[in-house]
Amino acid sequence: MSENSPEYQSIPTRLIFLALLVGGAAGIGANAAAGGSDTLLWTIRNITEPIGQVWLRMLFMVVVPLIFSTMALGVLNLGQVRSLGKVLGKTFGFFILGTAIAAGIGLFLVNTVRPGDGLPKELVDQVMNEYQGEAEARRARLQGFGVQTFVNIVPRNPVEAAATGDYLALIFFAVIFGVGLSRIPERQQKPVADVLDGVAEITIRIIGLVMQLAPIGVAMLVFSTASRFGLSLLKALALYVLVVAGGLLIHLLLALGIIVRTVGRMNPVDFFRTIWPIMLTAFSTSSSSATLPTSMRVSELRLGVPRSITGFVLPLGATANMHGTALFEGVTVLFLAQVFGVELPIGSQITVILLSVITAVGTAGVPGGSLPLLAMVLETVGVPGQGIAIVLGVDRLLDMCRTTLNVVGDVVSALCVARTEGLMEAPAAAAPEVVL
Ligand code: ASP
Repeated sequence: MSENSPEYQSIPTRLIFLALLVGGAAGIGANAAAGGSDTLLWTIRNITEPIGQVWLRMLFMVVVPLIFSTMALGVLNLGQVRSLGKVLGKTFGFFILGTAIAAGIGLFLVNTVRPGDGLPKELVDQVMNEYQGEAEARRARLQGFGVQTFVNIVPRNPVEAAATGDYLALIFFAVIFGVGLSRIPERQQKPVADVLDGVAEITIRIIGLVMQLAPIGVAMLVFSTASRFGLSLLKALALYVLVVAGGLLIHLLLALGIIVRTVGRMNPVDFFRTIWPIMLTAFSTSSSSATLPTSMRVSELRLGVPRSITGFVLPLGATANMHGTALFEGVTVLFLAQVFGVELPIGSQITVILLSVITAVGTAGVPGGSLPLLAMVLETVGVPGQGIAIVLGVDRLLDMCRTTLNVVGDVVSALCVARTEGLMEAPAAAAPEVVL
């Protein structure tokens, strides 16, 4: 494959970044000038949101074939060179370590800054009234988190899992399919593997095309979010928002930076520059699943992580590895406990960390995916679950930030697994200018 072939069709990163800025600025401007007006709402509902959704759906569209083909092939290829169990264990080791560090950073910050202490009672009542209905709707979506959540990882029907977007169950089937594939005679194995390889290549090409439209999609999505945003609420909850955002930044630059340097053996600045398109996509879509196609493509072509690893670690990570979400959950539970005057002893705080790590596995990689589980964590430690109403108004902004960290955590894990297994390749498109 030459660098000029369509596989390496550049991702217009600069344009995407510009679109993010323009969409954000225009949205904030529109909010200030005509926030809540019928014209603005009409424009969002009928123009910007539908266009943004079309782009988002195009990304989602390739997720099922991408997960199935790359995961099954990943298992086949890994099984041929090394023990699958070892790679799986290592992958989950990185996932759990990163998620727990993130939740720990969040708890440390929220205990130190205590953003929930001085929140005026009138504000709490007002916000609770305003967002009560939405909070109830979110909580109702939680159909029991417990043993059954883990039983459901094994699909009764893989087609149903694919159709309902139950990616964890789909991944399980793909892994088993890959194991089965590795055990049949080569005469039968080869044509199936060739088809899967072809499907993976096709999806990679589609992603290349969809990313050409990213500047439009990103501008529309970010405009829709920013123009609807309650800026006054943002001011009132500024300290809480700063604790979450600050924690995410510390985890990103410090914790992940150190892991990239020591385990991934890469200069963190180069690493973040290389994966910039992934971060932009995660930030603007607020969805780990929608970002999966971009993270696979960029990790392979620009970082040099082989497909056997990206195809294995990244789909798993997009559904089960959520550093940002765990940090957000930890901070929010403690913040709301402070608001309601509930003292959480150290034992309960450890429970919060554990639950944040465990629930991250069950969180869907979609916008707001963690909110139903957050309500459950709150109630488990004795904080009123309807309290999520207080943070809903600023959640979208925080979702954009935590999703970015979720996805970076996946890519860091893929880099570390590939590096420690000695599987890194020379990137096909190493120089940033090739794809920037
Ligand atoms: N939006 C997040 C993601 O897709 C999940 C969440 O925390 O709500 O990774």
